[in-house]
Amino acid sequence: MSRPAFRFAPSPNGHLHLGHALSALLNVRAANALNGRFLLRLEDIDLTRCTPDLEREMLEDLDWLGVPLEEPLLRQSQAFEHYRKALEQLQDLGLVYAAYLTRAEIRTFVADYETNGRIWPRDPDGAPIYPGDHAVLTERERKARASSDAPFALRLNMADALSKIGKPLSWQEGGSEGKALFQPDQQIAVEAAAWGDVVLARKDTPTSYHLSVVVDDARQGITDVLRGKDLYHATSVHRVLQELLDLPQPRYRHHRLILGADGRKLSKSSKDTSLRSLRELGMTHAELRRRLEL
Ligand code: GLU
Repeated sequence: MSRPAFRFAPSPNGHLHLGHALSALLNVRAANALNGRFLLRLEDIDLTRCTPDLEREMLEDLDWLGVPLEEPLLRQSQAFEHYRKALEQLQDLGLVYAAYLTRAEIRTFVADYETNGRIWPRDPDGAPIYPGDHAVLTERERKARASSDAPFALRLNMADALSKIGKPLSWQEGGSEGKALFQPDQQIAVEAAAWGDVVLARKDTPTSYHLSVVVDDARQGITDVLRGKDLYHATSVHRVLQELLDLPQPRYRHHRLILGADGRKLSKSSKDTSLRSLRELGMTHAELRRRLEL
């Protein structure tokens, strides 16, 4: 059997915080415990928010953490060709459509819908399910947008995708740290319909998080995706895309999250939990491990 391969896949669109440190260190530990590889991937498809300075600072933080970097690093911004090909495969299956509603139009649609006590469905991240252009635009307006240079998103027709697959899907969920790394996997049922028609690409970006993550986990030969519990439900979307694109399915291991003093998930914009500021305040590795309960 080949060696397990783990990866840490941050986006250089802000500074790493304690949650990233936990994720990176758990991946390194699991890779060591299972005699596996540890790979880094920079998820920098958002070319406006991800900058070379933030990338350099992120690599400095990882160096401080003692995370070993296997070269070459995979940068998603240099792999657009691969995502384009995957997108074409899905288009050839007839499962992709151009969606023209702007975020503001979706918000207004949902607010109108909910005025009389009805509830519009939300995806597991809390975003409204895409209502479809026809819910808001007349046929004339739809045609006008399609023939103009209006912005659009390319979305997966989830209902058609699920009927094309035609069987229930699941994923293997393993433990993320300590002895649990060696426990048998659980099978988790995929619930992708709850996501609605997810975005696969946009007019100016030939990919999205969901599309590039499955393409790259396959390209890097990742056998074990160890990431935060905040991405647990997204795994349903990833399994659907793997199935449609005929990609191997890794094992998933979703780890605990580090919460802020307010009980919420940490964000890249909160300064007081960024690794850089903690380092500047003199935090040692031992203190970091204590804070992360490692
Ligand atoms: N790039 C994602 C993030 O920074 C992680 C993606 C993943 O681990 O699947 O949250």
